[in-house]
Amino acid sequence: MAAADALAKTRNIGIMAHIDAGKTTTTERILFYTGITYKIGEVHEGAAVMDWMEQEQERGITITSAATKCEWKGHTIQIIDTPGHVDFTVEVERSLRVLDGAVAVYDGVAGVEPQTENVWRQADKYNVPRMCFVNKLDRTGADFFRCVQMMIDRLNATPLVLQIPIGNEADFIGVVDLLGMRALTWRGETQKGDDYAIEEIPAELADQAAEWREKLIETLADVDDEITEKYLEGVELTVDDLKAGIRRATIAGKGNPVLTGSAFKNKGVQPMLDAVVDFLPSPLDVPAIEGVATDGETPLLRKPSNSEPFAGLAFKIQTDKHLGKLTYVRVYSGTLDSGSPVINSTKDRKERIGKIYQMHANKREERPTAQAGDIIAVQGLKQTTTGDTLCDPANPVILESMTFPEPVISVA
Ligand code: GDP
Repeated sequence: MAAADALAKTRNIGIMAHIDAGKTTTTERILFYTGITYKIGEVHEGAAVMDWMEQEQERGITITSAATKCEWKGHTIQIIDTPGHVDFTVEVERSLRVLDGAVAVYDGVAGVEPQTENVWRQADKYNVPRMCFVNKLDRTGADFFRCVQMMIDRLNATPLVLQIPIGNEADFIGVVDLLGMRALTWRGETQKGDDYAIEEIPAELADQAAEWREKLIETLADVDDEITEKYLEGVELTVDDLKAGIRRATIAGKGNPVLTGSAFKNKGVQPMLDAVVDFLPSPLDVPAIEGVATDGETPLLRKPSNSEPFAGLAFKIQTDKHLGKLTYVRVYSGTLDSGSPVINSTKDRKERIGKIYQMHANKREERPTAQAGDIIAVQGLKQTTTGDTLCDPANPVILESMTFPEPVISVA
């Protein structure tokens, strides 16, 4: 695949949530549905249990990895760990900088909670396009519509509601897809790997579905000019028109697609992945990253293209039990070869790139080169710490020029 095509089909995303909303469960389900190498039921029972447990254990480890790559419908999704369980840290801000879009996960009972509110505001600051997944709809007291209202009231968000639930609490069985005007259902005790059935919208929900679809189009017309025009002209909007409008609005930070389900009960995860691919930006859709020259002042831009000089940001250091110290790097522009010399422009030091690894859901893969838009782990960097820029020695740039406030430590 040509480099630009591959970039267009890449989604670098973070999952943000208040503690207990279901970030781990949702991430684990994403890895299950995308990273699976066999289908349950296709192997003999004994072997299936073995493979299953090994895979689960392996995933348990990789979920804590700083970045995990998986595939969905011809697209590459990189999930970057967003530390959401803290109020305000450099690490949250830095992780927001390296991702192109995010999925905010809500507990359908608690709705918008303080930690999500904090991360949401930080994401506003860095213009990170976001969609929302209202999780735990199977729980007693879950209320999808209250949660949507809280997004407006507490987050100042513009929810583009793409689904409404079918049933609630223990009776939650699926969603009405308001774009396709059809029902997606997972009936009974669902297993991981179960696909949804496509059905007619239940008669008792027909009016509500029509009303929310109209609301979706009206909201979209408020925030997207092309939709406004067609809407005012009274043109019948196709599903493709609406999808294109939702994508533009999301990338522009003017709207937030909202989907729902219950990750734990394996409901709603596949359509949510479809939405990640359909509506969140690729590295090509976001503006070129701004940096400064080594004088600390002259502004420089680095575009997401392999023909630009290499520039990347080290955003996390982890120790791997097999590979030792790994530096996670987001490549913003240019290409990076293993063994090549680079400059750590933040510290004004020379570094040499060791091996380059791609971290997958269930394996790691050594690769000779990384390209613009990639998120990779690098071995062999001695002096680089998080927040440092690595770049082409002939074309230095410093990407993280912002100064972070010192964390406030209160002493009782
Ligand atoms: P995190 O702290 O955001 O990572 O949340 P976890 O994924 O660890 O989930 C917290 C708890 O909620 C765990 O006990 C999960 O099993 C449970 N949980 C997650 N998703 C759902 C769901 O869709 N429905 C229900 N009932 N429980 C869920």
